[in-house]
Amino acid sequence: MKKNKINLMIVDDEEQFLESMRKRLEVRDFNVITVNRGEKAIEVARSSPVDVALVDLKMPGISGEETLKLLKKEHKWMEIVILTGHGSVDSAVDCTQTGAYSYLQKPCELNELLIVLKDAYKKRVMNRHKIEEKKMNELLKISQSSSPREILRKLREIDGGS
Ligand SMILES: [Mg+2]
Repeated sequence: MKKNKINLMIVDDEEQFLESMRKRLEVRDFNVITVNRGEKAIEVARSSPVDVALVDLKMPGISGEETLKLLKKEHKWMEIVILTGHGSVDSAVDCTQTGAYSYLQKPCELNELLIVLKDAYKKRVMNRHKIEEKKMNELLKISQSSSPREILRKLREIDGGS
């Protein structure tokens, strides 16, 4: 597991979705761990570092919402983004009130996903290192031209590669 990468866990019961996400995100500086059940996500997060988790709302076994609650309870700095299909947006919004950073509707566009993952990771780094927004923006020296990928790299540096 490379230390200069962001540790992302994807939890979804659709194997094809997991594989396509893995392929697309591994080339973009993420260490990707995929699991197909909420129960497994809880287990894996106990032994592997996870910075951000992308969690499907509807899965057999424990739901995405329950997975979110359990993950947050054990890993307070982990940021979680909920994935939802059509018709479940209301439940996804509820998740943001129970600790999810945000939610995305499937199928999601890669650049949109990268932006949300970047913002979720930024929040984690700020909380964990107690960095204020203003100070964070100075540290990032955010310019209009910075891509989510560049910002993610910079955030990883600030986080200390742990
Ligand atoms: Mg599902």
